[in-house]
Amino acid sequence: MAIWNLGSINADMVYALPHMPAPGETLAADSLDQGLGGKGANMSVAAARAGSHCCHIGAVGPEGKWAVDRLTEYGVDTRHVVTGDVPTGHAIIAVDKAGENSIILFPGANRTISEDQLGQALSAANSGDILVMQNETNMQAEAAKMGRDLGLRVAYAAAPFDAEAVQAVLPYLDLLFLNEVEAQQLTEATGKAPEALGIADVIVTLGAKGARHFAADGTVSDVPALPVKPVDTTGAGDTFTGYVLSGLDRGLPMAQAMAQAARAGALMVTRNGAADAIPDLKEVQDARF
Ligand code: ATP
Repeated sequence: MAIWNLGSINADMVYALPHMPAPGETLAADSLDQGLGGKGANMSVAAARAGSHCCHIGAVGPEGKWAVDRLTEYGVDTRHVVTGDVPTGHAIIAVDKAGENSIILFPGANRTISEDQLGQALSAANSGDILVMQNETNMQAEAAKMGRDLGLRVAYAAAPFDAEAVQAVLPYLDLLFLNEVEAQQLTEATGKAPEALGIADVIVTLGAKGARHFAADGTVSDVPALPVKPVDTTGAGDTFTGYVLSGLDRGLPMAQAMAQAARAGALMVTRNGAADAIPDLKEVQDARF
């Protein structure tokens, strides 16, 4: 089986600043950390490091070879990542001394996926494979429909939240991931609780309070979080999602897939960085909390 991920690829550039710059101010940063990020890349790395064959569908710009190389290094299948003229997506993340952050996100190449590229990639998918999307690319609704028509299990992480984008994919979903805030936003947008939208599996992540699974038969199950001291929560949700999908892909029941994902998410919040910090399955299994 395989996981197909229509997802963003970003360069994360994290600048440590003495304070947030005021309008018109020029400010020297104390340090710069550069790494691989983007919700899509994070999920692909998590799924691959968890042991699945994960094929990323995405795009980078002319200077994006390093990102594709790094995805490959982490075990992601990058044959459907194209290189075009639009610059690679990037996030300029400013962090002040109090740990507050401000982010400028440049979507760039992430929004240049063509229907042809998508169709070509998914033509190699097999019924029962998983397709996942987030909201940092274009083509989500088209992909979800294609996935449904091909008999794939269609999953979506509704982040960053956009009511219109989420509602466009809802009819095709088998599996929906939301954090607590997104669950609230979706409820406001639809007038219904997420678990009442007719989706087979809905998972709501609750940070340090764990995660909740709503199954189609009305069963609600909680998976507790592991006790850790958080250092940086970037990518915890993406790591959790990638691990759940990989667990399902590897044939685990949902409860076990979520328990493994909670361990991966807990490890992730103890580390700085995004895709580069995602633990592999052995680290997740061996970790003591
Ligand atoms: P982010 O946007 O920061 O990537 P998110 O809001 O999408 O995250 P969260 O609900 O914060 O997602 O976290 C996903 C999962 O990671 C949680 O369900 C939990 O299992 C684990 N996790 C997150 N924060 C903590 C924490 N402080 N302690 C232990 N586990 C955590």
